[in-house]
Amino acid sequence: MQRISHWVNNKVVVGTSGRTGKVFNPATGEQQAEVDLASTAEVDAVIAKSKAAFPEWRATGMSRRAEIMFRTRELLDANRKELATFLTLEHGKVPSDALGEIARGIENIEFACGIPALMKGGYSEQAAGGVDVYSIRQPLGVVAGITPFNFPAMVPMWMFANAIMCGNTFILKPSEKDPSASMFIADLLRQAGLPDGVFNVLHGDKEAVDRLLVHPDIQSISFVGSTPIAKYVYETGTKNGKRVQALGGAKNHMLVLPDADLDMAADAAVSAAYGSAGERCMAISVVLAVDTIADALIEKLKTRVPNIKVGPGTDPSAEMGPLISREHRDKVASYINNAAGEGATVVINGTDKAKDAGFFLNPSLIDNVKPGMKCYDEEIFGPVLTVMRIKSYAEGLQTINDNQFGNGTAIFTRDGGVARQFQYDVQVGMVGINVPIPVPVSYYSFGGWKASLFGDQHMYGPEGINFFTRGKVVTSRWPDPRTSAVDLGFPTNR
Ligand code: NAD
Repeated sequence: MQRISHWVNNKVVVGTSGRTGKVFNPATGEQQAEVDLASTAEVDAVIAKSKAAFPEWRATGMSRRAEIMFRTRELLDANRKELATFLTLEHGKVPSDALGEIARGIENIEFACGIPALMKGGYSEQAAGGVDVYSIRQPLGVVAGITPFNFPAMVPMWMFANAIMCGNTFILKPSEKDPSASMFIADLLRQAGLPDGVFNVLHGDKEAVDRLLVHPDIQSISFVGSTPIAKYVYETGTKNGKRVQALGGAKNHMLVLPDADLDMAADAAVSAAYGSAGERCMAISVVLAVDTIADALIEKLKTRVPNIKVGPGTDPSAEMGPLISREHRDKVASYINNAAGEGATVVINGTDKAKDAGFFLNPSLIDNVKPGMKCYDEEIFGPVLTVMRIKSYAEGLQTINDNQFGNGTAIFTRDGGVARQFQYDVQVGMVGINVPIPVPVSYYSFGGWKASLFGDQHMYGPEGINFFTRGKVVTSRWPDPRTSAVDLGFPTNR
């Protein structure tokens, strides 16, 4: 059985905890590897290595850091296909999905290459007589990232590229369900010339996370995962004096107004709901259809959904792969199987496919959902599109704003005025106007509102730089010592 171990000081380090996790091939349902799960003592040892690497890395010139990041970008570009195979083997992604994830991740590396230009502070000459004032941004020290299973390459890239370019040393604790992508990326960083200890990978579960959250040498925690764990990570990390950004779950609504092009809206809803088997925090989970067009839209969805080709990512014609685990597949199936009992209409039931050895479901479509039903109130995170019928734009907006989550949303309309009003009023962090998956480009920042984000700073982009640096303001003067005198008054500038 293949064993996946930690990555410390630019080499593989075999775990000593005696605890391992199982890594499955979701398309076959078979275990294909075991991954070391770090003990508290192993976490402490990695933090010590990261701390030791920090002073030299911080002192490394920004051009040199950028050179390494540019090389990393080139290596990632040259190895897209190889990296994608890990996403297919351990997560189950079909190639177009895996390559798309890697492409969006690389955009974060490209953004990070330009960070020297964005780390510039301000300078005010002659703020007072002979006094100059300027601001600088400095790295935090050892920072940690804890990532989910559903983007094993892109989400780590959201974090480490900015963190490292800003001068921090970084510890990645990837999902134990698909840990190989992070090891492959770690080796590319080594090949690019990253010094020992600047980027370490620690595999683990709650024990490792809990140690990172309390260890005094960890300065910040970046977390992406489910809402209950995000909340726990935020509360525990901040209680222990750390800066924390913790992104949680989602329930993304797509509001379709009567003037929308219904074929375009149906194409978008199907693509955004079932891509990556619905295991995306920006997946469309609920279509809000205004009554007058709801029947027509459902008809269009019904003709598209059965055409989706479900299969393993190793089949080049497959469009949708399996779910991550047997337990998760069964949980998703339970939402579909319970929906009718709650009063919803199951238009297409994809649970037949659950008989396969792999963790598959076919896409499912549920109509007439309402708040109070489990399939509406909870994040399903699977290939299930639900439809809620609403009377008006106003009811749609209210429904979105009443939802506990506020990650992404989309409106489909041809009316620019209504779209602008929607963007103004909706309580969601990322909004698409005729765009179903509005993941911001790398030079904006990613983050939701309400139960989708705990903390003040969104991830990557300009807010990523703020998160990974501390501001300092210097006030300086070079007076003639002969003019010096004691003055106990509070210094003024005029
Ligand atoms: P998860 O919360 O189960 O795990 C995320 C990370 O936390 C993993 O590294 C895991 O090892 C660790 N973890 C799990 N349980 C823990 C515990 N009890 N204590 C400490 N650490 C723990 O999430 P997942 O199932 O890997 O990912 C899917 C979830 O992530 C979905 O809810 C999805 O919406 C969310 N997600 C959100 C975003 C976003 O940007 N908001 C992006 C991707 C995924």
